[in-house]
Amino acid sequence: MKEVLVLGAGYAGLKAVRNLQKQARDFHITLVDKNNYHYEATELHEVASGSQPKEKISYLITDVINPKKVTFIQDEVLKVTPEAKIAELKNTGVISYDYVVISLGFCSETFGISGAKENALEMVNVETAENVHRHILKMMTKYRETKDANYLRLVICGAGFTGIELAGAFVDEKKKYAEIAGVSPDQIEIICLEAATRILPMFNDALAQHGVDLLKKLGVNLMLGSMIKEIKPGEVVYTRGSEADALRYSIFAETIIWTTGVSGSPVMAQSGFDEHRGRVVVKKDLRDPKYDNVYVIGDVSALIEPETNRPYPTTAQIATRMGAHVAKNLGHQLKGEPLEDFNYKSLGTVASVGNTRAFGLVGKNAIKGYPASFVKKSIMNKSLVDIGGLKELLAKGRFDLYH
Ligand code: NAD
Repeated sequence: MKEVLVLGAGYAGLKAVRNLQKQARDFHITLVDKNNYHYEATELHEVASGSQPKEKISYLITDVINPKKVTFIQDEVLKVTPEAKIAELKNTGVISYDYVVISLGFCSETFGISGAKENALEMVNVETAENVHRHILKMMTKYRETKDANYLRLVICGAGFTGIELAGAFVDEKKKYAEIAGVSPDQIEIICLEAATRILPMFNDALAQHGVDLLKKLGVNLMLGSMIKEIKPGEVVYTRGSEADALRYSIFAETIIWTTGVSGSPVMAQSGFDEHRGRVVVKKDLRDPKYDNVYVIGDVSALIEPETNRPYPTTAQIATRMGAHVAKNLGHQLKGEPLEDFNYKSLGTVASVGNTRAFGLVGKNAIKGYPASFVKKSIMNKSLVDIGGLKELLAKGRFDLYH
């Protein structure tokens, strides 16, 4: 019996397994993940702010796999050796495969900025998101004891989708933080530093400006054109405007969160794949160019978009679609049939700014406010049902669309 190994149970890997297990073919699937749960990575900002508990954005992997067809191993993947068709796991040791699907997801990218790893908080998985929330609560308590305003200041580094969604979630939770600190909500400062002079390059100027205005209206201090150079304990060092401007400025804060971008899992470099920032440029059928039995999907893959000749942005939406496509192509490959190219059209890109506000694009149409928030939650619900099935949708789905 052929062995299909799937590494990583994020959007891409778990979707591949869910679709593969429906195929009544003569193969066995092994799924490996370091956690025993799948989590909705697009909702980590809600756990970080405290607006959702981790249980609301995660579910057990064993709840959605068929044990007759899939063996789940909870372990950390250290390396894949495609020449030998083996993967090395931290505790289990070496396991072999006939086909492998690598879907190991993302990690935080510091771009070598001094002190970022040591002195800023990451928000890349459930633990780090929970850690952000715990940290904020602790800082609010410290304010009560010290009356030092640095404890009330929340600094977000980078205004990409992650930074903006986190800022929006903080706005929603400001009141709770203020109660703990014993201050008025206006005294909680939310600052977001962004190197670029405008946000979200995939949106046109008007839509991006709408986002800037919305954040401003909500009291977020969005500092565009601020390039972070160093993170010291309790201090963000940055320059303003052009690089030629050698003057350095500082913001002092006891909560600094790092959201300046992501790269693919370090396992890709460790395994000797031809990668850049942890991403491997894959063929149109989603396989590695060198190995016919190696599929690379989700945040560790870079699929070139024909119109722009640049890799598609890494999103949950494309990762889920890739997972489904790999299941289809593996089915073909196991039967000796020709593989299909992956075709992708984004359903839309929406940034939430708290629970009831959002802005983004559906097709070429800009959407804002409540309708955008509705679309964002519908995308979330679709992802839940796509991967977790109806059971997870009913347990975790967002039905609070109209409050
Ligand atoms: P990103 O790369 O999209 O954004 C990071 C931001 O940080 C950029 O605006 C960049 O200019 C800024 N930055 C980088 N270095 C900086 C520095 N030294 N000083 C100041 N600013 C700096 O990263 P992300 O927001 O984490 O998103 C990662 C991926 O996930 C993206 O592909 C994104 O599209 C996707 N995502 C999508 C959604 C959604 O669809 N709602 C939500 C979250 C993430």
